[in-house]
Amino acid sequence: MSDLHRRVEETNAILARIARDYSPAVFASSLAAEDMVLTDLILKAKLPIGIFSLETGRLHAETLDMLNRVRETYGYEIALFRPQPEAVEAYVSQNGLNAFYDSVEMRKECCRVRKVEPLGRALSGNKAWITGQRRAQSTTRAELAVQEDDAAHGMQKFNPLADWSEQDVWDYLRANKVPYNALHERGYPSIGCEPCTRAIQPGEDVRAGRWWWENPESKECGLHVVDGKLIRIKSVAA
Ligand code: SF4
Repeated sequence: MSDLHRRVEETNAILARIARDYSPAVFASSLAAEDMVLTDLILKAKLPIGIFSLETGRLHAETLDMLNRVRETYGYEIALFRPQPEAVEAYVSQNGLNAFYDSVEMRKECCRVRKVEPLGRALSGNKAWITGQRRAQSTTRAELAVQEDDAAHGMQKFNPLADWSEQDVWDYLRANKVPYNALHERGYPSIGCEPCTRAIQPGEDVRAGRWWWENPESKECGLHVVDGKLIRIKSVAA
């Protein structure tokens, strides 16, 4: 059995266990390459796991086009959660549309309004949520475990691709003809909101294009809380 085949088998077992033991469970997709691996596995196995995305109002057209590509390929409609209009209006009127460039605090407040609050609504009522995070993606994810006790949201959090490499992801997508975001072929290994993501140069860290004006340690959007509210569980029995 190849390494990729083994990883796929292990990931399928984790997803099946989540569907069996932690229902209702949801998968938070940012419509990037890793998320398309999980989308493909979940939908092909017909697992009762809902898939949603956070439509921040600042996404690239190419990212939004992925909603159509998933619909065409799988006949599946990804649920969208949007920020509260009054919260966006308040942020923009008080700080300006692009105030996230001014300071880490302003950036985190924009992420709170456009991502963190909608995520809370998306997760409400579920026992577990799933992400496409990988350990190798950044220094902030080096300790990422497959299963975490997400006390902040009062549920379990699963990262089934935690030990997948970037090569594994692309080998899977190509072997299975899974659609992927066109930006990945233009130097964007990691894709977030349009004004906060740029293409990287060869040899740069895969998340170097995210909030590129900040220190690496602050580069998370608040969706993945670590400061004492999230406990790493090192092993997951299938
Ligand atoms: Fe706002 Fe940028 Fe965060 Fe998107 S990534 S929510 S635009 S600060």
